[in-house]
Amino acid sequence: MKKIAISACLLGEKCRYDATDNKNEILLEQLKDAQLIPFCPEDFAFGSPRPTMDLLETEEGSKAISNLNGEDLSTPIIQYATLFFQRHSELDLFIGKDRSPSCGVCSARVYDEEKNLLSSKEAGLMAKEAKKRNIPCIDAEDFKGLV
Ligand code: SF4
Repeated sequence: MKKIAISACLLGEKCRYDATDNKNEILLEQLKDAQLIPFCPEDFAFGSPRPTMDLLETEEGSKAISNLNGEDLSTPIIQYATLFFQRHSELDLFIGKDRSPSCGVCSARVYDEEKNLLSSKEAGLMAKEAKKRNIPCIDAEDFKGLV
């Protein structure tokens, strides 16, 4: 059975910034024969609901910056990802919620420090940690089924 790490909001957990979910019934049907291991770095670190954040390109790379007060929220997200991947070392796939600054795989937006859009094809902070570990990664909107 394939072991798949997946953004918890896609499974129906109300862990988005506004305490709603992104439940995706079609995706869940496609994954019914897999072992799903949900994750949500933002809910773990900041709870739900919570202020939104954006990825900003800085001299030290991409950072998750709070839209409420400009605080750098990157460290707790990366710490959560590090622990998650230590605990779940034999993953066949990572499915991230597209466009999320934490979970998006090839779809996160990155801005410069004046909030000009630089790219909308980047990896969010947790997806980046998955890629670093050579785990196959895909955005939920690009998933076409298990092969
Ligand atoms: S996209 Fe990722 S961080 Fe955002 S609610 Fe879903 S699991 Fe949590």
